[in-house]
Amino acid sequence: MQMRLAARVGQVNPSLTLAIDSKAKAMKAEGADVCNFSVGEPDFPTPAHIRQAATDALEAGKTRYGAVAGEMKLRQAIAQKLQTENGLCYGAENVIVTNGGKHSLYNLMMATIQPGDEVIIPAPYWLSYPEMVTLAGGTPVIVQTDETTGFKITPEQLQQAITPNTRLFVLNSPSNPTGMVYSPDEVRALAKVVLEHDLYVVSDEIYEKLLYDGAEHLSIGAVSPEAFERTIISSGFAKAYAMTGWRIGFLAAPVELIRACSLVQGHSTSNVCTFAQYGAIAALEGSQDFIQDMLKAFSQRRKLMLSYLNEMPGITCVEPNGAFYLLPNIKRTGMKSIEFCETLLEEQQAVMVPGVAFGSDGYVRISYATDTDTIKKGMERLDKFVRSRL
Ligand SMILES: *Cc1c(COP(=O)(O)O)cnc(C)c1O
Repeated sequence: MQMRLAARVGQVNPSLTLAIDSKAKAMKAEGADVCNFSVGEPDFPTPAHIRQAATDALEAGKTRYGAVAGEMKLRQAIAQKLQTENGLCYGAENVIVTNGGKHSLYNLMMATIQPGDEVIIPAPYWLSYPEMVTLAGGTPVIVQTDETTGFKITPEQLQQAITPNTRLFVLNSPSNPTGMVYSPDEVRALAKVVLEHDLYVVSDEIYEKLLYDGAEHLSIGAVSPEAFERTIISSGFAKAYAMTGWRIGFLAAPVELIRACSLVQGHSTSNVCTFAQYGAIAALEGSQDFIQDMLKAFSQRRKLMLSYLNEMPGITCVEPNGAFYLLPNIKRTGMKSIEFCETLLEEQQAVMVPGVAFGSDGYVRISYATDTDTIKKGMERLDKFVRSRL
């Protein structure tokens, strides 16, 4: 290609997950019986009442441009949810509706980060965080965590990573890829450091409803009125309501920041698909029973998968209590995570995501958003694979 590309394109990494995924799809197309554990979305259909609300809106002519920041009724419903469920005192003016939780974070980075700015990101991290910071011209500051702290950043680690250039701290609980949930006390301890250093924290709470064994989610913005002022909430409908393809997320923050994000969004994507937003309103206002049913299934699969992993030689796995991922440690197999995943795919037709994609080599991410038969079959294959390597 002759055309010169912008330097920023060369600075971001292509998605490793997509590379493995396309290899798995090619094998499947050739007739291989592939067990896929790389999925990052619920394997449930969007609940019927949500689909119906969007269909009705479509039929009622909600097909035109809407307000950039979202349908007022949806912004109000989101603000209401944040008040009643999370103890966050937001009004509709504090909310912008975005094209997914990913887009809300992208808007935020574009609106707040410039060259010289640092953003603290604990690893293992969701792989888009550092790339978004880089695209905005900022510098991701990665803080490594491991099993010894349950893959959670400690207040001391956070403190040590702060410099005069720090603009933001990214907190993701429950976490993708670790599944770990910060306890309310851990959240409070981090909030203390955030306040001591006048930082801002963006709290990615997209998995807040996917909790097991009595785990509790506390939003860092609910710790105190001071913490609330320094908190930005990013979330969406994809995971809790099985609405990944709908592309609806939101950011909640002080009004000036919402205005800045609206400016960015107004010149990039404009409003989120109008009739899809009516589905999101129904998701918030309708029955929440669906989530309990989905959680019951996830919970059983999580136990099943853990029971296999706990029996495997050469592999250790902490027991996380959120989201739908496990992140076993594969260091004793002597393989790097990419080699592990590539060979596993070739020899046993099972797809997992190498930890290096999340900034932590030595681990692989296994999603249990898949059926029990696949889990049984795939875990037996993984067992065979690791035994052959020890
Ligand atoms: C899935 C996910 C998101 C957002 O996904 P969207 O489909 O864009 O709503 C954000 N953060 C994390 C950690 C995720 O796993």
